[in-house]
Amino acid sequence: MSSTVVTRFAPSPTGSLHLGNARTAFFSYLWARRSGGRFILRIEDTDVERSQPRFRDELMVDLGWLGFEWDEGPDVGGPSGPYLQSERGAFYGELFGRLAAAGQVYPCYCTADELELSRKLQRMAGKPPRYAGTCRTLSAGERAEREARGLNPTLRFAVPEAVIEFDDLVHGPQRFLSSDIGDFIVRREDGTAGFFFSNAVDDAVMGVTHVLRGDDHLTNTPRQLMLLDALQLRRPRYGHVGLLVGADGAPLSKRHGSTSVAEFRERGFLSGALLNHLFRLGHASDVDGWLATADMPAHFFPEHLGRASARFDESQLLHWQKETLQRMSASEIRTWMGSNESTEFIELVRHNVVLPADALPWAAVLRGDLPPLGPDEQRLIDAAGSEFFSAAADALERSGPDLKALTKLLKERTGRKGAELFMPLRVALTGQAHGPELAPLLKLMTPGTARRRLESHAKNP
Ligand code: GLU
Ligand code: ZN
Repeated sequence: MSSTVVTRFAPSPTGSLHLGNARTAFFSYLWARRSGGRFILRIEDTDVERSQPRFRDELMVDLGWLGFEWDEGPDVGGPSGPYLQSERGAFYGELFGRLAAAGQVYPCYCTADELELSRKLQRMAGKPPRYAGTCRTLSAGERAEREARGLNPTLRFAVPEAVIEFDDLVHGPQRFLSSDIGDFIVRREDGTAGFFFSNAVDDAVMGVTHVLRGDDHLTNTPRQLMLLDALQLRRPRYGHVGLLVGADGAPLSKRHGSTSVAEFRERGFLSGALLNHLFRLGHASDVDGWLATADMPAHFFPEHLGRASARFDESQLLHWQKETLQRMSASEIRTWMGSNESTEFIELVRHNVVLPADALPWAAVLRGDLPPLGPDEQRLIDAAGSEFFSAAADALERSGPDLKALTKLLKERTGRKGAELFMPLRVALTGQAHGPELAPLLKLMTPGTARRRLESHAKNP
């Protein structure tokens, strides 16, 4: 047996890729890459009502944008396909047959109403609701009678008496009693495989060695291990990472703002920024600074994954966004902005841009009309006085768009220097007290624009 690490991401195509799922996909991907192993993409679309091909396509676009290349998957194929669970029905059928032959599954004819009533009664009696085992002991005659009534059964796993133990990669040793677990559905009424079943057997037969997933699946694991044991399939190791939460500690959801990878992309966040943030959420790396995606596997330590919930923080994300932008060329930034501005312009504004839309006001500063001044800016203009701007307009005539020459002339004329000279000039020219360097900005401005702006604050002739 080879010791190759095989990890996977197994999303259900029932919505867009949530940041929390992207994070477990990321950790799984990193684990495979750091170990020279394989990373599988498997689409868990057996729930026909909730799954949509559109979501499957979007998931793959989002994963591709993040840069998680999968070695096996629905589009690239591989030795363990098909990788869409909706196409694995024949294989599941075979396994159902094996379980049935061994008496480890049985048909359940209970209706949704009956199950609901039973749960209610258990809750009233102060017991945790679970399937009561009603159909486990039906005789062949009773089954035939229900079939004759046209009842379409689900298939339930007959949970054996057992203590289920496993060593969680994140939480450490776990121990569950099967007596706390009701017989659960492995095949739905419509014939499709249930989640516990398809998820567990696919991991086993696809050779997955390490399953990383959210904490919310921890209590599913004993069920899945019982199934694998019953089928004599090899158990993967499971690791359950703490969930992603918002600033208030509640699971990251819509009310925290953006939650899907697509939303962040559409807002203009860079995958490098998102990955640098996710990399450190619930994972203690040995590197604090920005990392290129290609360098992350070497700094990923599965043993440093945490069980505490991890706080997603958009201000942290903005920090990584700036770090990522710093490392991009002007032409990369231009592409990201979807802009056809000149390289000079991009170089000028790049340090004032965190999201693409941040560049728009600076384009307007060059070519358009300035918005009305804010109160602080107006005060600076007033303090400089109209004579200052008359002098500035004159000086500009002579200096041209050369800031050094302009300020030298202006200093001679007005006796002002430093911020006293510079700030009113900047505010008059750009409408703002802060922003990109003024010298190149002035160069890129049309001469008429600069003159008009200075004159607009000058004394009326
Ligand atoms: N399809 C399951 C989900 O998206 C997979 C869980 C797992 O990773 O095992 O929740
Ligand atoms: Zn039943």
